[in-house]
Amino acid sequence: MRLYRAEGIVLRNRELTGADRLLSLYTREYGRLRVAAYGAGKPSSRKRGAVQPFTRSEFLLGSGRDLDYVRQCAEREIFPNLRNDLENLLYAHHLAELVETFTPEGEPNGGLFVLLLEALRGLGDGDPELLVRAFEIKLLGLLGYRPELGACVRCGRVSAPGEYHFAAGAGGVVCARCAPEVRGARACRAGTVAVLRYLSVAELRVLRRIRVEDAVREEMRRLLEDYLAFHLEGRARSLALLACIKGKPGG
Ligand SMILES: [Zn+2]
Repeated sequence: MRLYRAEGIVLRNRELTGADRLLSLYTREYGRLRVAAYGAGKPSSRKRGAVQPFTRSEFLLGSGRDLDYVRQCAEREIFPNLRNDLENLLYAHHLAELVETFTPEGEPNGGLFVLLLEALRGLGDGDPELLVRAFEIKLLGLLGYRPELGACVRCGRVSAPGEYHFAAGAGGVVCARCAPEVRGARACRAGTVAVLRYLSVAELRVLRRIRVEDAVREEMRRLLEDYLAFHLEGRARSLALLACIKGKPGG
């Protein structure tokens, strides 16, 4: 039996059977992991605190036949800003869901671990909506799905203000001339593209200093939602294909 250490953020804690819990963790060392925490649901369990959702904990994990499991754990950070604010808690769930759906199991991404940690810390401070948009665009970049926010993806021309379009399926910004030829291209404000570009590079802690008008916020939310959905569908398709290939006899 192999034991290994990991520092992880608890994304989800579900019932496995009885008092046993199934955890989804995002760890610094191994990326996303699914592990069992046997007995952690008992009120007397010493693991109880460290396995709560949105807790950063140190884990000693053991490899099991089907599922690895928590041998020991200790909580290190509980993000108190999330505990007493429903809006922040809902945003935290959204971040956890994005990490769960977009990351493969067992592939470390140190940048994403730090981004998630800083986002959970930042949710209590300043502008949570803008922080979540910044998280979305940075997550896309860290996982190799960064949208093009400069020149038109079709012809390379830089749009003049008032001529910006965005097409999730084409990978980013499209100029007014190309827009009719690109499926799903929708007009958007130059300001929205400029704020997205800023969010993709700005540090999370400086976000509380910028002001963004409501119309731009709404457009940014919709645009990222489309873009995330497009890549999620692609990911679901490639996973299904992979399962299909793996499932072939002799394959
Ligand atoms: Zn163009």
